[in-house]
Amino acid sequence: MVKKIKQYSGYYGCDKCTQKGTWVAGRMTYPEVDNLTSRSNDTFRAEMTRRQENEETPVSPFLSLPLDMVEQFPIDYMHQACLGVMKKLLTVWVRGDRKVRMSAGQISNVTQRLLSLQKAIPSCFARKPRHLEDIDRWKATELRQFAVYTGKIVLKGILADQLYDHFMVFSVALSLLLCPTLAVEHNAYSKELMKYFIEKTGELYGEHFTVYNVHSMLHLPEEALAFGSLDACSGFPFENYLGKLKRLVRSGKQPLTQVVKRLVEMPKSPLSVKASKPKFKRPNNAFILHEGKCCEAIEEREESDDSGCQMLLCKLFEKTEPLFRDPRDSRILGCFKVQSRHAVMKLIPERQLTRQAIMVEKRDETIFLAILHEQR
Ligand SMILES: [Zn+2]
Repeated sequence: MVKKIKQYSGYYGCDKCTQKGTWVAGRMTYPEVDNLTSRSNDTFRAEMTRRQENEETPVSPFLSLPLDMVEQFPIDYMHQACLGVMKKLLTVWVRGDRKVRMSAGQISNVTQRLLSLQKAIPSCFARKPRHLEDIDRWKATELRQFAVYTGKIVLKGILADQLYDHFMVFSVALSLLLCPTLAVEHNAYSKELMKYFIEKTGELYGEHFTVYNVHSMLHLPEEALAFGSLDACSGFPFENYLGKLKRLVRSGKQPLTQVVKRLVEMPKSPLSVKASKPKFKRPNNAFILHEGKCCEAIEEREESDDSGCQMLLCKLFEKTEPLFRDPRDSRILGCFKVQSRHAVMKLIPERQLTRQAIMVEKRDETIFLAILHEQR
């Protein structure tokens, strides 16, 4: 809207490429994934100059600023991937076409699994998993939790195999783009996965499913590369801060004044990030170690290692296996399974605990999922 261009329902509705849409069953779809021409700042500005000369529709006021009119308007994965694609998939699994929806029994099984994960979700997550039946009320952060972490576990063996494998392609591609290191290292691979995901979407869910929202997944790898990771150009920090502002309002009277007064009273900006120290209680004490091992931090010890780093007593799982192998060995994402009987108690320097994780204990094995999104 602010760029004064066609929206997603138009024939050339993608603001990143020039694919002409195809009208299917009353909606505009973008099924192509290959040989697409990217838009650029130069082509965008040239088109706007043409419009101005011909006195066609008004142009965007942003044109007078030194902005890249394509690159500096990134696709926001909070809206497009979480509130968009993930919600769309969940909705058809719950109440879509008979070919792709789950039975009432299967939905209730997934819900039971989700609820049983509540105790495993660390406090850095704003919300715990809830009923699948509540899908219409799920917030973006819950949809991200499902897309990147819990979905992999709770759908396995319940959702039809080919739908599950297809979801995993999306989940892995998205997860890779959240971590700044992986987003660069595996960028081309993530793009291949997104291409496959979109192509297969038409086959599995029907051509009418490949709307702009699904198409835009193809451009997410470019955004991650340009900005460092998807969290560097997403709406999540904005939404989280809105949540914080909302909690400053205690009554319906003059809300703006209340917010301003409370912000002034605060000793420092509520946006400042605390350095996170390892915690020693479940569910906040699971970590991935730098060489692909997993541990639970048990307690802090007085001693430190040669370089002065604090030693922690940990329950260490040295023998780890990939949680899944398709579409790729899950260890690149920090997803492991371990056997509890192989754990040993060991002193480990704090700096080796590289990433916080979600730890899920099951009857015969324990699962570790590295937390990949930026926590702010
Ligand atoms: Zn496009």
